[in-house]
Amino acid sequence: MRGRQCNQARRALLQRSAEVAGLLAVIVVTGNSEPATAKAAKSEFMYQDHPHDGNRCGQCKFFSVAGPDSEVGSCSIVAGAISRQGWCAAFVRSVHG
Ligand code: SF4
Repeated sequence: MRGRQCNQARRALLQRSAEVAGLLAVIVVTGNSEPATAKAAKSEFMYQDHPHDGNRCGQCKFFSVAGPDSEVGSCSIVAGAISRQGWCAAFVRSVHG
């Protein structure tokens, strides 16, 4: 009899835990959706306006150039004008770079 009560209590606890976990997942997803669209400040990724170990924004997968001859463009994760010659800690070499 006592074992049955323990099993019911354990089952209720597990069910409640699953409900809480589901609620937390919704909160996390909702909470992350807004920052995911906001860009980071240059300082957050130690942006500099010159290359680092030969790597530069013009080679990075997150860089978009303003024009074919432009030295300035934008980044999909760092805010503000981004130099083609710049670099930051989030650098990821483009397959085209
Ligand atoms: S992620 Fe960093 S290195 Fe890449 S384009 Fe943006 S600022 Fe430049």
